[in-house]
Amino acid sequence: MQKNELTVKYGLVWDALDEAQRAEVMAMGEDYKAFMDASKTERVCADEIVRRAKEAGFVDLNTVTELKAGDKVYSLARGKNVTLAVIGKEEVAKGVNIVGSHIDSPRLDLKQNPLYEDGGMALIKTHYYGGVRKYQWVALPLALYGVVVLADGSMVNVSVGDDENDPVFYISDLLPHLAADQNKRTLAEGVAGEELNAIVGTLPMGEEKEEVRFKKNVLKMLNEKYGMVEEDFVSAELELVPAGKARDVGFDRGSIAAHGHDDRVCAYTSMQALFETTECEKTAVALFVDKEEVGSNGNTGMHSRYFANVIGTMIELQRGTCNGFDIDRAMAKSALLSSDVAAAFDPNYPSVADPRNTSYLGKGVTIVKYTGSRGKGGCNDANAEFVGKVRKIMNDAGVIWQTSELGKVDQGGGGTIAFILANADMDVVDIGVPVLSMHAPFEVISKADLYMTAKAYKAFYLSK
Ligand code: MN
Ligand code: MN
Repeated sequence: MQKNELTVKYGLVWDALDEAQRAEVMAMGEDYKAFMDASKTERVCADEIVRRAKEAGFVDLNTVTELKAGDKVYSLARGKNVTLAVIGKEEVAKGVNIVGSHIDSPRLDLKQNPLYEDGGMALIKTHYYGGVRKYQWVALPLALYGVVVLADGSMVNVSVGDDENDPVFYISDLLPHLAADQNKRTLAEGVAGEELNAIVGTLPMGEEKEEVRFKKNVLKMLNEKYGMVEEDFVSAELELVPAGKARDVGFDRGSIAAHGHDDRVCAYTSMQALFETTECEKTAVALFVDKEEVGSNGNTGMHSRYFANVIGTMIELQRGTCNGFDIDRAMAKSALLSSDVAAAFDPNYPSVADPRNTSYLGKGVTIVKYTGSRGKGGCNDANAEFVGKVRKIMNDAGVIWQTSELGKVDQGGGGTIAFILANADMDVVDIGVPVLSMHAPFEVISKADLYMTAKAYKAFYLSK
């Protein structure tokens, strides 16, 4: 993108980088892959963010007794929501600059009564979470993550499949030789939700005359390892995700394939940018929420009062008192970059995008004024004034950006957390990283966009 030219040209980030900056891009790519390998689910991602924040000098908001400029605090709620804040010179009650992302990603959750056996195998039943294309989740190695709350109330963590010595789990698919009937299904119906059952065991327990020997053998192993019994599944949150690490893509290593770029790439960049923000006029906040992929409801979704409570806590620490209207007013004076991924142009499927209003890999962070479906239904349509403000912040900081909407007008659509905080009277616009194969087990992003997005968020944190 060129500034102050009569026509606009959205150029490649790579062309704007010198040798040293290209090295920075590649180094950030390495750190990002490590972050992603530690962040396969919302819970472990929240833990990883807090771990890195503590390392960067952030302290638990619940343990501080005052908040002054330059202080760095974090809040972790229910193991799934995180807020990081660098306190500004201006008090929190006058509004804060927020970059908000979500750390949940589409996956396969276990049902609450998941374990059974059939055909000489123990299997677990799943219920997909978020917008998955179900046919993509079969015949690939899967890892199991999550927690189980046992009968005595204690909680155990589960993580199996990503250590190279671990076993993996696997959902079978038909062989082409016998797929005549399945081949006639539409792509959407190709694999049904109730067909997403994963193999978890193939060894029988005990004597031939006994019943459910495969299931019992798995339960015995779970009992030995986690102290759990079958009823404990009811108070568990267990998620199947693709096994394997984030990997570079291409001979030139210019991009990265990983599970859950949507939206942990925006989580990572907003976190990194905040770690580099030491002095700011307004308090800079990185917000990480759960449940975006299923509508942002519940106590860990953006619709929850959680974030308002964090703002209230900060105001109270600064003023000694805080009422509901103080919080509402602080929200109304705040600004949010809703940091979520955008659909990148896919040369295999050019027909779904308007080439003049789509984002491209490598052309930088993408500003999305509105999402929604059809006639902008359900969108947050950011006002021109705020888009103009953000555009100026980006241009002044030398950020390479592009602009896009989600595909052709009548092709489909989607949304983000943007509208929720906009409904709280806040200025909000979507701005994030373009991604290929969004919601697939492994998605792809460009390292150049990763780098430029962190730069964009940092410029916003520092804005007045
Ligand atoms: Mn998203
Ligand atoms: Mn999504």
